[in-house]
Amino acid sequence: MKQYKNLIDGKLVDSKSGRTFENRNPANWDEVVGVFPKSNVEDLNMAIEAAKKAYKKWRAVPWPMRSEIMRKVAQIMIAKKEELSQLMTREMGKVIKETRGDTQEGIDTALYASLEGRKFYGYTLPSELPNKSCMTIREPLGVWSLITPWNFPIAIPTWKIFPCLLSGNTAVVKPATYTPACVGELAQIFKEAGLPDGVLNVVYGSGSEIGEAILNHPDIVGVSFTGSSEIGKRIGEVCGKTLKRCSLELGGKNGQVVLKDANLELALEGILWGAFGTTGQRCTATSRLILEAPIYDKFIDMLKARAEALTLGNGLNEDIDVGPLVSESQRESIHGYVEIGRKEGARMVTGGESYKQGECANGWFYKPTIFVDVLPTMRIAQEEIFGPVLSVIKAKDFNEAMSILNNTVYGLSSAIYTNDLNLAHKAIELTETGIVYINAPTIGAECHLPFGGMKDTGNGHREGGWTAYEIFTEIKTIYIDYSGSLQKAQIDTQG
Ligand code: NAP
Ligand code: MG
Repeated sequence: MKQYKNLIDGKLVDSKSGRTFENRNPANWDEVVGVFPKSNVEDLNMAIEAAKKAYKKWRAVPWPMRSEIMRKVAQIMIAKKEELSQLMTREMGKVIKETRGDTQEGIDTALYASLEGRKFYGYTLPSELPNKSCMTIREPLGVWSLITPWNFPIAIPTWKIFPCLLSGNTAVVKPATYTPACVGELAQIFKEAGLPDGVLNVVYGSGSEIGEAILNHPDIVGVSFTGSSEIGKRIGEVCGKTLKRCSLELGGKNGQVVLKDANLELALEGILWGAFGTTGQRCTATSRLILEAPIYDKFIDMLKARAEALTLGNGLNEDIDVGPLVSESQRESIHGYVEIGRKEGARMVTGGESYKQGECANGWFYKPTIFVDVLPTMRIAQEEIFGPVLSVIKAKDFNEAMSILNNTVYGLSSAIYTNDLNLAHKAIELTETGIVYINAPTIGAECHLPFGGMKDTGNGHREGGWTAYEIFTEIKTIYIDYSGSLQKAQIDTQG
């Protein structure tokens, strides 16, 4: 069992508080994965001070040289891919195939950053006046706080860390309490790759204690947050008061629509992966299945059989389909929603209880659960459950399916299965989500494309690809007048 320490100014240090917390394996609660400092505001202040000091030098390092460090990070991550992925499975439970994918997404994001440093374009534009040129460049802002959730312990931190640092900012990362180890290992990799001290700092601790202090710290210029809508709204409120930039990636209530003409076998593979992959603990997980009436009964029969055949167990075993939930409280929360669904009158066709057989007795396993005859207004059709619970809703036709799909406060991801080209295009037009998949499940984002949601899923920013760099940079507009005389825009141009 490893003892982790905060990373502040390039040094591994204990918390000034002297407190620690344990991180346990959700598949086997007896296994302690690591012990971490439970930091206080003093630790945080030291980390912010270090990041502030490092910022002046780091922002002066040319972009291609910063990106060279990102390339080295990528190389070390590639070498450590299996080690990181196994740690991730032990730390948060998802199956090893998926944690390898999570780590790979981090590697891809690092490689993207390693190229972006050589092509970070600005604009050059004509002036309305003669002998004058205009351009824009992008600059870093300063010290950022990156606050991350537990469901993508490598991918999500890397979505933030790489664009943040490559852009010339410095950062203090506050990882989720359930998954601190992966960020700890990642920070070590940055150190190994030669990142200067203080550019990336990691402070472990609880969101309520450290998180709130971050939001209120005057030297933090921006907060990049991925997590629940509840905490996101709180962050937006505090950042609004002090005019800190903040990017919020929040919850989802994603739907998969299957139209009557669709390839049902393909749609079935999609829903199994979308609803029960990562044990339903993805912001993009499929939580609602909207079936067109003529295929409703047939598809439910197909789905029930396949969902019941999924194997539950320790995700380190290559044959397992579904790992545990991240914690006991998460399992209670999911079971609470199952009770709500029952009371609301939805019909449960499978699941609805914890799974405690054999080696699973010691973990937070929950059977894949399917409710049918769900009405769009029910709470299980409206609220984010964040577990392996699927609500199936019947739609009489395409238009009704689309209106059910959009009938949620969230707007992250949606999937439409059809072979009708016209309906596919119409669906793209009507869908109120930041990500739309045609004939593919609601999960499966690629790191070089914009990622984020509409409505209550966020505040308009997009991570991933080039758009992540827009979050972490400020535009500077430059006018160069080489006429040698005072030229007045809008005034001299009028004849
Ligand atoms: P969460 O409870 O909101 O926590 C996210 C992070 O915020 C954690 O590091 C947490 O620390 C910290 N935090 C808690 N209270 C805080 C406060 N008052 N101020 C500042 N930080 C605070 O979310 P979660 O349970 O980890 O993750 C699940 C949620 O994330 C779901 O709603 C899911 O949809 C969403 N999510 C969204 C996306 C997306 O891109 N749209 C991706 C993944 C997940 P502690 O761990 O110490 O509580
Ligand atoms: Mg939480």
